[in-house]
Amino acid sequence: MGQPTLPRCACCGYRTGCTTCPICYWTDDGRDDPSVSVVTGSRNGELSLADARLNYSIYGASAPRYQELVRPPRDDERP
Ligand SMILES: [Zn+2]
Repeated sequence: MGQPTLPRCACCGYRTGCTTCPICYWTDDGRDDPSVSVVTGSRNGELSLADARLNYSIYGASAPRYQELVRPPRDDERP
């Protein structure tokens, strides 16, 4: 028996349950796989989810400017 499952971050995939993910700094705005290339211009600015995932794979953050703000994931946050 573990913790209740938290929502998965749409960008990095870790389960933090935070609106703005502390691991990649993506802010949950309801976008996920069906809308990865949609740009809403809202909480994540001009970032599409596809771009944010690419940035995370390169920089470890959803945008290069967030590199100083993010932290490594904990074991209990793995997808
Ligand atoms: Zn994340």
